[in-house]
Amino acid sequence: MTRIFKFGGASIRDADAIRHLGDLIAGEAPKPQAIVVSAMGNTTNALEALLGSARGDDPADYRQRLAAIRDDHLAVAEAMFGPGSSVADELAQRLAELDAAHRAHRQAPYPFHYDQTVGMGELLSTALVAAWLNEIGVATRWCDARTLIITDDRHQAANIDWAATQERIASLTQAGDEVLLTQGFIGATAGGAMTTLGREGSDFSAAILAEALDADELTFWKDVPGLYNADPRRFANARQMAQLSYEEALEQTWHGAKVIHPRTLAPLQRRGIPLTVRSFLEPDAPPSIIGPEPGEGDRQPAFMLRDDQVLLDISIRDGSFVDEALMAEVLTRFAEAGLHANLLDVEALRLRLVVDHRPERLAPVLEALDERFSVARQDDLVLLTVRHPVDALLAHLDADRTRLVERCNATTAQRLYLAAECPDTWQIPD
Ligand code: ASP
Ligand code: MG
Repeated sequence: MTRIFKFGGASIRDADAIRHLGDLIAGEAPKPQAIVVSAMGNTTNALEALLGSARGDDPADYRQRLAAIRDDHLAVAEAMFGPGSSVADELAQRLAELDAAHRAHRQAPYPFHYDQTVGMGELLSTALVAAWLNEIGVATRWCDARTLIITDDRHQAANIDWAATQERIASLTQAGDEVLLTQGFIGATAGGAMTTLGREGSDFSAAILAEALDADELTFWKDVPGLYNADPRRFANARQMAQLSYEEALEQTWHGAKVIHPRTLAPLQRRGIPLTVRSFLEPDAPPSIIGPEPGEGDRQPAFMLRDDQVLLDISIRDGSFVDEALMAEVLTRFAEAGLHANLLDVEALRLRLVVDHRPERLAPVLEALDERFSVARQDDLVLLTVRHPVDALLAHLDADRTRLVERCNATTAQRLYLAAECPDTWQIPD
């Protein structure tokens, strides 16, 4: 049975966490064939800030940020391997390369520079984790994901070259029960330039590997016990879902559930590989499973919140109908600006869109539309999407709240509320 594991940043945030990961792998039977690991803790955010600084004009700030990232990693290496280990040398070496690269890439386009910098987090973390697994007797081979995941050069959101990637992964050879350990989030172009797959992309990396290795099972180890029917940080009584289908998981992700990277499911679905989400802290707790079979998650209500929404009410100045051609014209502008319509509602004379508040993307679109369209805008809104809604439940949610827009079909209800009328912590009505 071929198993693939993926560990997120929280599960390797410090030396204790990495030790725990080691114990967990040592105790698993059968052993995973491959393990995909994210960057340690908040390293990815720290690298993004470092990049901003590298491109700015405050060298002291840059040096301080680089030193903080170095200190964090070296402290973990020292706690695990003692002073002056070869892992520490390797980490220091990579960070010195990063520092040198910053000087070379300062004038390069931002997305390219982003990938060369931010992708470093996974190279650092995997050096630590691989060394630790070998130290405790779990034979582990560190693999460079840049030789496995081949992409185009769309930096920051690279597209996978599936054929090349499949070929690279299939040609991996593995001795005995050796575990392959590789980085999530990163890949490289055919020419060898590092690329990244988008924030939280390690999930996607693991799914790509699972598909290419025709795995029987992919497991995400998380700091929560599984998947919930609502974000437990926002809904006091969110409940864990034992099982749901790929289709349902995709719908929930599309509507804003943040548990897995949206591109993760397609590779798994192609081969019918189940995705198990388990608790890193309580490995024996019941998991959640996303797979080919529908489960309770396909039937019971689930809740997705999007904060900081903007409602745009768009009509054409000459009073024409909003026909297909007009809709296409408007929607193309949003698509090209990378703005997703979280809710779409059409009437004869107006098109209503709800988008995330992203001023840098929205401003140019509104400016371009202004010539032919009049746009009314409302800010500070919350979009609540309910999968498998029932009337009584919706009535409860709507009570005492202004519904600016609503949409409902057999499987999904959406409500646009004023943020000022929404609680910080929601209660799912019984
Ligand atoms: N380290 C990357 C991020 O924080 C990728 C990942 O964790 O999935 O977005
Ligand atoms: Mg992560």
